[in-house]
Amino acid sequence: MAEALTSNGLASLRSSLIEWYESDHRSYPWRETTNPYPILISEVMSQQTQLDRVEAAYHDFLERWPTVDALASAEQAAVVGFWSNHSLGYNNRAKYLHTAANQVCSEFDGEFPKDPATLQELQGVGPYTANAVASFAFNNGNAVVDTNVKRVYYRLFEIEDDDATFESVANECMPEENSRVWNNAIMELGAVACQKTPRCEEAGCPWRDDCAAFQSGDFTAPDVPTQPSFEGSRRQLRGRVISVLSEHDELELDRLGPRVRVDYTPDGTHGREWLRDLCSDLADDDLVELEDTTVRL
Ligand code: SF4
Repeated sequence: MAEALTSNGLASLRSSLIEWYESDHRSYPWRETTNPYPILISEVMSQQTQLDRVEAAYHDFLERWPTVDALASAEQAAVVGFWSNHSLGYNNRAKYLHTAANQVCSEFDGEFPKDPATLQELQGVGPYTANAVASFAFNNGNAVVDTNVKRVYYRLFEIEDDDATFESVANECMPEENSRVWNNAIMELGAVACQKTPRCEEAGCPWRDDCAAFQSGDFTAPDVPTQPSFEGSRRQLRGRVISVLSEHDELELDRLGPRVRVDYTPDGTHGREWLRDLCSDLADDDLVELEDTTVRL
């Protein structure tokens, strides 16, 4: 549980995730701006549509209505027509965006509110979107909790599948006044590493050493009721053994196993016997030494 972490443990979780995110992440135009208007457009568009498809629509939308004033002055029918031509899902979202732009201009003097509670006064802006805009535009949000983020915390801390628990753990983990980078980073982790079938090693998840699921091999989650299946050729897995061992002097099979296959369980199909067999092949090729249950390079 997050409460059980020492402040050093928490500080290291935070810094390792931020470093992981900052060293590499998918790049989207709305991540390059702190202007709340395009951020709101991207958030509303991505509620129904895959991010890669959102990108083209996002550029077209901003070319046509580059500012919140321009959108407020548009005919609502034109905005709805755009939405429908770009297959962006429920047309009501276009109407709400148009109304929200008018609210910003008439009720807030053309300036977006900066806190999640006031942002929710805008038509069609629910708690998630308000928090995303407050975080990404103003660095002033709470921790974002969506399905991906729940999956990460559930696996990391083995916590209850309970909204209040997710909310409090997520807020506890988020470094103060750093919602912009933190929310981006944890959402990125959920999207590219802690997927339903996790890619802990491939995506270089920085939390492997602290992650309960990675240590136990149980990767079930609220949206993953049964253990996901993993793939990996024997050649890839041999490579992984070598790469893991290059970071350790030596490892016991049961400590090496979860780092090689995320579904490793000592007595399972991909368990100790399977790993011993893989390591003996490597030992036959003089690539590792295997002594009883210990392996080293
Ligand atoms: S180690 Fe794997 S399961 Fe744990 S948080 Fe990282 S990606 Fe998710």
